[in-house]
Amino acid sequence: MESVRLVSREYQANDTVVTVGQVHIGGGQPVYLAGPCSVESEKQITEIAELIQGSAHILRGGAFKPRTSPYSFQGLGEEGLRFLKAAGERVGLPVVTEVMSEEEVDLVADYVDMLQIGARNMQNYALLKKVGAQEKPVLLKRGLAATIGEFLLSAEYILAAGNKQVVLCERGIRTFSNSYTRNTLDISAVPILKHLTHLPVIVDPSHATGSWDLIEPLAKASIAAGADGLMIEVHNHPSEALSDGPQSLKPEKFNALVQDLNALSRFLVENLKGGGK
Ligand code: PEP
Ligand code: MN
Repeated sequence: MESVRLVSREYQANDTVVTVGQVHIGGGQPVYLAGPCSVESEKQITEIAELIQGSAHILRGGAFKPRTSPYSFQGLGEEGLRFLKAAGERVGLPVVTEVMSEEEVDLVADYVDMLQIGARNMQNYALLKKVGAQEKPVLLKRGLAATIGEFLLSAEYILAAGNKQVVLCERGIRTFSNSYTRNTLDISAVPILKHLTHLPVIVDPSHATGSWDLIEPLAKASIAAGADGLMIEVHNHPSEALSDGPQSLKPEKFNALVQDLNALSRFLVENLKGGGK
């Protein structure tokens, strides 16, 4: 495998800090990106934004959705982008959404503060070059079965095209058929990536597990493993969600979890002596 250059620790020793609106990701306090899997209506995204604004740093919500089945809800498209942007402005949070194709990059970038490349598009090199050639920060999710080396090379495409503002997201990988989790969270990816690259690394325990009740333990594990933040799906009525309801936290649960994660993060910083390092 060809080795990476621009994303490597050898190229840059200091942690990259990625700036999204007023929010800084990397080398500091954990950052929380939260919101529904899909923007479903103006009311839905606005209500969720209002309920989590005190805990979340960045509001998420999909408008162009990469659904496994063509018969599943595909997202509201540009209308969804409009609702997401308005909800973010209303509560004062920057917003992130997925862009699925090269042709839609300019449109999506007009509405949001950060562009998400989904797991299914991690190796869409034309799309990576396109988001690399524009200025909005990029959230790059690990492919469903991508190695760490392939993940880093995908990030390298974006940096090589000129955009240094990239956040990596571990979101679980395919291992073997398992009725208990949707994917397998590769927690080892966090310290390995932090060692190999200066880019910030976050974890998405929603897509990694598929179950809301596994979010809390894996979110804690991710912070303990050194993640720079988390992406968590939050829905005000998970049982009625048009996508990913079973892996979405209710807003009050998310808010309580953030309190605990902040306490855990403070504890780690103040009490651990760096044993084993
Ligand atoms: C998402 O964040 O809603 C999503 C589709 O994630 P992934 O690309 O990791 O499956
Ligand atoms: Mn989702």
